[in-house]
Amino acid sequence: MRVVVVGGGIAGSVLAKTVQQFADVVLIDPKEFFEVPWADLRSTVELSFAERSVINHKEYLKNGRLITSAAIDLTDKEVVTADGCLIPYDYVVIATGHTYNSVKTRRERLQKFQEDNLKIRCANSIMIVGGGPTGVELAAEIALDYPDKKVTLVHSGPRLLQFIGPKAAAKAFEWLKSRNVEVLLEQSIDLDSISPTDREFRTSTGELVLADYYFSCVGKPIGSSWLQESIVKGYLDRKGRLMVDENLRVGGLPNVFAIGDITDISEMKQGVLAQRHALLVAKNLKLLMRGGNDCKLARYRPSRTSARVSLGRKDAVVQFSLITFSGFVPGMFWPRDLFTVKTTKLLGLDSKQVYL
Ligand SMILES: Cc1cc2nc3c(=O)[nH]c(=O)nc-3n(C[C@H](O)[C@H](O)[C@H](O)COP(=O)(O)OP(=O)(O)OC[C@H]3O[C@@H](n4cnc5c(N)ncnc54)[C@H](O)[C@@H]3O)c2cc1C
Repeated sequence: MRVVVVGGGIAGSVLAKTVQQFADVVLIDPKEFFEVPWADLRSTVELSFAERSVINHKEYLKNGRLITSAAIDLTDKEVVTADGCLIPYDYVVIATGHTYNSVKTRRERLQKFQEDNLKIRCANSIMIVGGGPTGVELAAEIALDYPDKKVTLVHSGPRLLQFIGPKAAAKAFEWLKSRNVEVLLEQSIDLDSISPTDREFRTSTGELVLADYYFSCVGKPIGSSWLQESIVKGYLDRKGRLMVDENLRVGGLPNVFAIGDITDISEMKQGVLAQRHALLVAKNLKLLMRGGNDCKLARYRPSRTSARVSLGRKDAVVQFSLITFSGFVPGMFWPRDLFTVKTTKLLGLDSKQVYL
């Protein structure tokens, strides 16, 4: 049986790695590598971290095939790719959480980290646009490693981290301020009108920000535009997420599953949950391939997890359903390696080895 997995993020990679043991697997992704997404910001300031958190798919996909291209359509029999291939499937699993404007090879990705790192080191002042988790974590990493640099965080909303409660957001705001990060709220920067040589930026309210270098940390689009004309187009919700049932099938179609951030499951979008989806769908595929009955399929129950935003290596804000923590105590319960070791092991790889 052929299983085609579209998207090689944490969800698709864990699924492909698991399913290759009992099926003919094809993984489709425009990138040759997998990266631990939440390690990106640390990788930008600490290059040795990048080498351990960016791994070529071929390292764990020993019995499967990788197609390095973007999927552009899905029919009832095939996935169509941007380079014109038709990839037939018996089962297809959609795991295209978000689209990344990324490079193709691991070498190019590491080079990009190096370039960003050099720009940070050479800059006296840095502007970060976007006060979601990416912008806040990046501002914190820079403020901690380079306390002499002037960091300005510009956010269009009335408060930082709008995906979590106001208490947690206020704690992150105070932490950044105490590290001399200037936070400009309810102001935006027109990124389309910026040129790479600009050093002066006007916000929407007319405030002037001087910065030698800037990072755009505005949210990435959900990776479902390729499904707009496909067989599952009727199962995209208003946000572009795929509606799944309790077995993680799309719209009840018997051979189409979805996992990870692309799904409409009502729970926080987290890598740790994307991994759970992947393991559940792997189990269901195994059962179906052995002729198992639909009523025996494993059911997914949405999880309640905490929301957590790192503030450098030791501190964090963590919000549970009723309570918010900040400082080094929640930081203590989060490994310094940001779970890269655990994730590498989940892919069946040696966490101590640097895969080239
Ligand atoms: C700053 C930040 C911090 C975070 N911290 C944590 C944390 O501490 N813990 C945690 O559990 N989660 C965390 N998350 C969330 C976590 O990163 C996501 O939930 C997780 O990455 C989702 O995985 P995914 O595989 O579903 O999607 P993605 O990681 O978005 O992967 C999607 C993959 O699909 C590919 N793709 C997209 N479109 C196509 C296409 N048309 N054809 C083929 N391939 C395609 C992409 O190239 C990519 O490889 C954090 C996120 C951010 C932004």
